[in-house]
Amino acid sequence: MIAVGRSVLVTGGNRGIGLAIAQAFAAQGDQVAVTYRVGADGLPGELLPVQCDVTDTEAIDRAFTEVEEKHGPVQVLVSNAGMNDDTLLMRMSEDQFTRVVDANLTAAYRVAKRASRGMLKARGGRMIFISSVVGLSGSAGQVNYAAAKAGLVGLARSVARELGSRGITANVVAPGFVDTDMTRALPDARRAEILGQIPLGRYASPEEIAAAVTWLGSDTAGYVTGAVIPVDGGLGMGH
Ligand code: NDP
Repeated sequence: MIAVGRSVLVTGGNRGIGLAIAQAFAAQGDQVAVTYRVGADGLPGELLPVQCDVTDTEAIDRAFTEVEEKHGPVQVLVSNAGMNDDTLLMRMSEDQFTRVVDANLTAAYRVAKRASRGMLKARGGRMIFISSVVGLSGSAGQVNYAAAKAGLVGLARSVARELGSRGITANVVAPGFVDTDMTRALPDARRAEILGQIPLGRYASPEEIAAAVTWLGSDTAGYVTGAVIPVDGGLGMGH
């Protein structure tokens, strides 16, 4: 197959924000692969599903190899896969802390490292990390998740410094509350409390996060690196 468009990989691109990001890149003509863990049924046909648990380095290597064979080396990496496991500090087990950090932060290191191989050869590439407003503001009951999301900022800015001379940019998007499975799992009272704190008075749609991500992946964002772009309805007020 002759490659048209860039090779884009979105981790956790089988649902929620990741799926909206993947579809937005595909709509502009890129070749987009998405990772999934269990099943890829029902995914739009234009997306290439690759099985991968981002806590497993070997699975990541296999997924990148598959993408490289089908679409060529990854030119745009979106590290989006993430999960939470909320509870108060006093009740949080060490396992709960390290699992959340592993899936949200260590996983980003794993995919960035694997992607950098091809990007260094190509002397160019884009890495975009999906953090969260709570990484910068903190959040009661989310010591593990907020720490991991804050860590992504230091990770991205260090990558930006290390790889900038090779034409590789690394940026962070920090969404506020987005209408997905993750926030649908919140109790109604907590959802109402959050809404009251958002100047725009509503949750974001996944497409609104995708718009910032595709911009960071576009030619017009070529001089943007090490940035943290909030898409949070004013919740963090630019942090
Ligand atoms: P969802 O819970 O809807 O989807 C999470 C995605 O991450 C799924 O594709 C899931 O795959 C994948 N995933 C989770 N753990 C792993 C893993 N170990 N290996 C591979 N894939 C994994 O979440 P959202 O779409 O809401 O969130 C996407 C990103 O945005 C996350 O990083 C989240 O922290 C962040 N975010 C979300 C906000 C929100 O309000 N929703 C706000 C701020 C940030 P699978 O289907 O296999 O479970």
